[in-house]
Parts: sequence; structure tokens; C-alpha cells
Amino acid sequence: MKLTDIYKAKNTQHKSVISLELFPPKTDVGIETIYQTVANLTNKPDFISVTYGAMGCHGRENKTLEIAEKIKKDYDIETMHHLTSINNNPQQITEILAQIKAKNVQNILALRGDVPAGVHQAELPHVYQYAHELIADIQKTGDFDIAAAIYPEGHVDSPLEVENIEHVKRKYDAGANFFISQLFFDNDKFLRLNDYVKNSGIEAPIAAGIMPVLQKSQAERMLFFGASLPTRLIKIINKYKESPEDLQKAGMAYACKQIDDLLARGVDGVHIYTMNKPFIANTMMDRYL
Ligand code: FAD
Repeated sequence: MKLTDIYKAKNTQHKSVISLELFPPKTDVGIETIYQTVANLTNKPDFISVTYGAMGCHGRENKTLEIAEKIKKDYDIETMHHLTSINNNPQQITEILAQIKAKNVQNILALRGDVPAGVHQAELPHVYQYAHELIADIQKTGDFDIAAAIYPEGHVDSPLEVENIEHVKRKYDAGANFFISQLFFDNDKFLRLNDYVKNSGIEAPIAAGIMPVLQKSQAERMLFFGASLPTRLIKIINKYKESPEDLQKAGMAYACKQIDDLLARGVDGVHIYTMNKPFIANTMMDRYL
């Protein structure tokens, strides 16, 4: 099933789409743990997306399709395959798209990607410069629903501290059917972007990306993704930094408060970055589905 149909069905009933994000673990044991987590979910998410080469998973790209296919086939949950252009030329993209289609995965999050750690710029194909070029090539096949990334606080490489609407429009015009946001900790930043995009004539659902903070070091890493830390969250992190269990509880409570507020404001969707933690997936599914 194409995900825009899920957004359409739920949004017309004034409900938000709730999705989860997983990444391919480094080991096959880790992959089995993912399947166990998905099998044990009491409530199913509307869909699960599987990253491609992100979070230090460079070299595990071929696992994205395996996981996306199995979750769809064996657990009856729709899936979305992330795909990046930075490490693929058009011919490789054509081959990957054929493989994705053959496994009956119908949704792709089309991204530029970042230079993987340990890889030199010169080793990359440099054919696609921006995500909208990849989106256009995927769109030409007519086989997939296409999502694109959007940034509530602007992209880290951009001189602007807000999202560049022209770049969003380029992705939309190239064929993006919906958007998923970078994680953020201040709902006002997402809601401002949401209104701005919708008032610019872009008629596509936008899902809010939420990542619970479980560790101080993790929160600090988020700054590299361009997500600012509100004072309230910094206070929570400092208060519980010596007590990992309390910090996890407080981080989950902060994320749930963010989601409660976003749902009350009628966002199209909430996309939860689970970091492959079963308790994040379980807690969120029990609470929101
Ligand atoms: P683009 O839209 O191409 O933007 C890249 C930069 O170029 C931005 O600074 C943008 O402002 C600028 N830009 C865009 N168009 C133009 C233009 N025409 N002229 C000038 N400048 C322009 N990475 C992975 O490797 N694997 C994943 O699985 C993955 N999943 C993600 C999921 C989500 C929801 C998000 C938000 C990000 C994800 N990323 C992933 C990270 C993503 O690849 C990086 O943020 C990357 O740096 C930008 O990707 P993009 O698709 O937004 O690129």
C-alpha cells in the first residue's frame, strides 16, 4: 500500500499517522532482535521506515530492503525504504529501484545523504547534487510513493536557520508525495514550518520527527543534526545526568509531551525515531495506537 493512502484515510478522519523508524543493525543477531521487537508490538504502527546508510550503518545498505520486505510480508506492517543519492549513480539507482519493486516495497524516502564516515568525497559518484534530482528519477518510474526530508530549524549545511521553502518546493515539484521532518525538541519550530509550507501551496502531508532523549551524549549529538535544545530539556538532562534510569524516564516523558501537543494541534503525522530501542517502540505504540 502506498503511504499517501494511509495519510489520506487517517487525516480525513482527523487522525494523525503514527510511524516508527528503524536502522539496520550491524549484526545479524541485531536484525533478529528487530524482528522480535516488531513481532511483540501489541499495537502496530501505521508504517515502519528503514534507514539506508545512516547512523554509522554505512556498508549495511543492502539490509534495508531485506528488513523492509520482511516487516511488510511477515508482520503485515507497511514499510518505507530510505534511499540516498550521494553514494549511487543513476544506473545504480535504477537497479536498486528494480530490486525494491521486486520485493513489493512501495514507498521510498528519497534523500541526498551525507558523506559516510571513513569515505573520501572523491570516492563518491557526484552525479546527483540534491535530493530533488533523485526524487525526479524515482517519480519517472511511477512505481513508488515518495517522501522527502524537511528541516524545522533549517539544514545544517544551509546558511539559513529556517528551512529554505524553495528547496522544499523543488522536492514537491519533482514528485515528493509527503514530508518527514528532522527531529526537533521545540514544537513551535515544527508548527511554524508546517504552516509556512502549507500556506505556500504545497499540499502534501508533513510528519513531525520525534526522538526521545535517553542520554546526555545523545542530546549533544543532536546539535549536529541542527536540533536546538530548549532550556527546559537542558535542565532535565542536567538534573538526571548521573542517573541513567531517571534520565530515560524523563526523556520519554518529554517526548510524549511533545507528541501529545502535536496530536492536539492536528499534525498530519508523527514519525518516531526509535534508535532500535524496543522499549521506545513499545511505549509509543501502547500510548498512541
Ligand atoms: P537536499 O534536499 O539535497 O539538501 C541538502 C543541502 O542542500 C541542504 O543544505 C539544502 O538546503 C541544500 N539544497 C537543496 N537544494 C538546493 C539547491 N537547489 N540549491 C542550493 N542548495 C540546495 N541520511 C542517510 O544517509 N540515510 C538515511 O536513511 C537518512 N534518513 C533520514 C530521514 C529523515 C527523516 C531525515 C530528516 C534525514 C535523514 N537522513 C538520512 C539525513 C539526510 O541524508 C541529510 O540530512 C542530508 O544532509 C540531506 O539530505 P536531503 O535529502 O535533505 O538533501
